[in-house]
Amino acid sequence: MSGPDIESGTVVVEGDIITWVGPRALAPPGRDVELGDVILAPGLVNAHTHLDLTVMRGRFAGLPFFEWIRKLTAARLDLSPAQLLDSARTGIREGLLAGITTYADTTPGDAPFEAMRELGVRGIAYRELFGPDPRQCEASMAGLREAVAAMRARETPLVRVGVSPHAPYSVSDELFSAVADFARSESLPIATHIAESEDESQLVSSAEGAFAEFLRGRAITVEPRARTPIDLLECRGVLGPNALLIHCIRCDRRDIATIAQHECGVASCPMSNRILGHGAAPVAAMLDANIRVGVGSDSMASNDRMDMLRESRLALGNRASEREVWELATLGGARALRLDHLIGSLERGKQADFAAFPRGADPGGPTRASFVAVAGRVLVEDGQLSGST
Ligand SMILES: [Zn+2]
Repeated sequence: MSGPDIESGTVVVEGDIITWVGPRALAPPGRDVELGDVILAPGLVNAHTHLDLTVMRGRFAGLPFFEWIRKLTAARLDLSPAQLLDSARTGIREGLLAGITTYADTTPGDAPFEAMRELGVRGIAYRELFGPDPRQCEASMAGLREAVAAMRARETPLVRVGVSPHAPYSVSDELFSAVADFARSESLPIATHIAESEDESQLVSSAEGAFAEFLRGRAITVEPRARTPIDLLECRGVLGPNALLIHCIRCDRRDIATIAQHECGVASCPMSNRILGHGAAPVAAMLDANIRVGVGSDSMASNDRMDMLRESRLALGNRASEREVWELATLGGARALRLDHLIGSLERGKQADFAAFPRGADPGGPTRASFVAVAGRVLVEDGQLSGST
């Protein structure tokens, strides 16, 4: 990602750091791991997951979005903490076998955070919170502060903490502002689902649609809030370089200019968006505006597998080169998460996060990695999870 492809290449690792990259013939001596006929690439970055929902795959297929998200939210409550943790582990194991080394997860609990720590992958665990009723704002913030303090005490060099006000239909304007202030004062990354559905846009701009009706049914005052969902985030102080905007489908030219001006990252989830019938994000226009875009799988409740190359191909369309596809799934994701000083390319001084993909695999088939390392630690060998994973 940082230069031309290298035929017959070698990457030298010392500890968790890449110390040399170049042709095999010039490599310094050392202990060799021969990976065979593979593409050795930076570890793939999944810029948006809900790892604890991995067991929900296919559960609510075909439902309209409003019904889908209500059923999913209710079903999550039926899972015990141990089941959520197991579900998150399952998601990471599946991701590792597909070459994914970094996960940006939003979840109201700490299951993905713990699973990422345990399995040795890299990630940001955005602690998710809900609160559509402005009267809940103080209580939600108290809960968030406590949860984040407990998670931060358990942060590692690989797994960091962020915050995530869920979405405009589940978070009041007051709560958006309060979380944004908190994130700024604590220097935490912030992620939010935004501009995903038509119902969400209607709620924000004209106080109409399925979400508006739902909130009114809960005795919450609903009024027009902003021109668009992106405009709403700007008004509430959410936008900035520390913000990751998830989806961004319903973004017009003004919205794209706003995102660029505030230097936000974007996580586009094209397969999830297609499965839920939301349409496609203007990824090409965002890249043209120099916005930091990565791709995400979203949860397995709205996707059939975690496959970042497939997401990347879908996001970029037929005209994209293979190099652009790989870049979006690696360096693109790293930039979106502001981790590109550490990962996203195979370069001297960066973290030893990489994955090997056998050449000659069916390009339409699922992406499978034969070898994966995170921070120099081998997590997949010969296409199998290593013992401790
Ligand atoms: Zn999501």
